[in-house]
Amino acid sequence: MNAFIGDFMMSRPSAPYYYKENRSDVYHWETSCSTNQYPAPGWIKRNTPPAGSEQCNECKAKGDLPFDATAPAIEDVLADLAHEIPEEDWKRLPPDLTDNLDHYLYGTPKQ
Ligand SMILES: [Zn+2]
Repeated sequence: MNAFIGDFMMSRPSAPYYYKENRSDVYHWETSCSTNQYPAPGWIKRNTPPAGSEQCNECKAKGDLPFDATAPAIEDVLADLAHEIPEEDWKRLPPDLTDNLDHYLYGTPKQ
C-alpha cells in the first residue's frame, strides 16, 4: 500500500524554472532532470515559466519527498487513533451510523 501511494507522489512546478532560450517549448524545475541542461550555453533560469510551454514529464515524475519505507501504514495510524477514543464514546454512536451516514451528517432521510 505504501509503495502504491508513493508512486503517485509527483513533483509540482516551482521556481526557478530552466529552459532553453528561443526553444522554450518545455520547461524544467528539477535540477536532477536528465534533460535539464542548465547552465549549458543557451539555457536560462527564470522565476516564471515561458508562456505557452509545457511541463517536463521527467521533472513531473520526480517525487517531492523521498519514499519512506519505514513510515507506518495508514490503516495502522487510523487504528491507533481509534484506540484513543474512549469506549463510552464509541457506544454513543447510533448503531445504524454507517447505513445512514448522510442522515446523521446532513439530515437527509434515513435509508
Ligand atoms: Zn525536466
